[in-house]
Amino acid sequence: MTIATLETNKSLYKWYSAKARPLPWRELWRIHKDPWHIWVSEIMLQQTVIKAVIPVYDKFFSLFPSVHSLASATSEDVRLAVRGLGYYRRFDLLHKGAIEISKNRKGQWPKSFQEWLTIPGVGSYTASALSSITLNEHQGVVDGNVERVLCRIHDIRTAPNLPALKQQFKQTMDQLVSHGNPGSINQAIMEIGQTICTPTQPSCDVCPLNKHCLSKKNKSQSISPGPKVKTVFQEIDLAIVIPRLANGRFLLVKRSEKARFLKSTVGFPTFIKVGNEWQGDGFQAPPWLVQRIHASSIRQQKRSKENTGKTFKHSITKYKILAQSVLSTISVDEARQLDGTGFFLDANDVEAKLVSNLDRKAMKSIRLL
Ligand code: SF4
Repeated sequence: MTIATLETNKSLYKWYSAKARPLPWRELWRIHKDPWHIWVSEIMLQQTVIKAVIPVYDKFFSLFPSVHSLASATSEDVRLAVRGLGYYRRFDLLHKGAIEISKNRKGQWPKSFQEWLTIPGVGSYTASALSSITLNEHQGVVDGNVERVLCRIHDIRTAPNLPALKQQFKQTMDQLVSHGNPGSINQAIMEIGQTICTPTQPSCDVCPLNKHCLSKKNKSQSISPGPKVKTVFQEIDLAIVIPRLANGRFLLVKRSEKARFLKSTVGFPTFIKVGNEWQGDGFQAPPWLVQRIHASSIRQQKRSKENTGKTFKHSITKYKILAQSVLSTISVDEARQLDGTGFFLDANDVEAKLVSNLDRKAMKSIRLL
């Protein structure tokens, strides 16, 4: 591919030095040179836009200023610190990784791409980003923005995320960063994809790559790249049971490690519809509760005035969820049958404990938030 030259590397470095946005993780890295700041940003930015990450990132560092502070935290504290960002498994793995660095490696950071790969939750994309930014290792990074920019530079009109292209793009980026400043060059191409070479209206006049760009020359920006290979979504029905005691307090449980959705998060008991049956997600549900879900479904279908729940839509990774909230009054005895490890909270305190948007939507749907 044509842009992996020393000349392009130099012009990208010049452009990035002058135009890079002062994102919090970049500023922290510039001042402290602590891989912790970059690692957390890389994990938060997975599947999440910068705008959503920034406020959570700032709050996270007020709670966990060092890798050691996260290693000493409970998993519940970690989840609460990142709530709203979704994809919570990545933060469980970050927590495990922090324990690995702080305790097992006695605070020693990985010294290469290969060593980063041994840390929980760090795959080859994240290891490339971390080793190029914090260790100056010649590892190119390819994300969706980089794919779009490289497609346009070469006027590629197929889907940008075909496996064969991914390999080619990785080689191009490895070669481009091999001329120097790998962290800055990787971030420069990503930044161009985020701010200049945008999907619908690329600003070619201010693009530092415009001299090399075949799409600009051929005026094919609207068809390069072609549409992405789409994720196939699976539709699924869930019931979120909101258990309430006669005294108005609510029962919250910690979901099982074996749950299919939101494993290990604090929230409400969740049920998956399999055929016509409701099954507890990661736990054995007592029959009386399953009956209540059926009864609530019928009431919701009939739009009964006594309805104590609502349906709403939600998505988690490749699942399109049609969820129904079921407000269920239970006795202390029933609460014990449901989950011996659960705990009770007043309505005003529930929201602060909920990590996932699914649980918050369920609360909202029955007007408890
Ligand atoms: S010149 Fe235009 S189309 Fe080409 S990479 Fe730059 S912004 Fe994208």
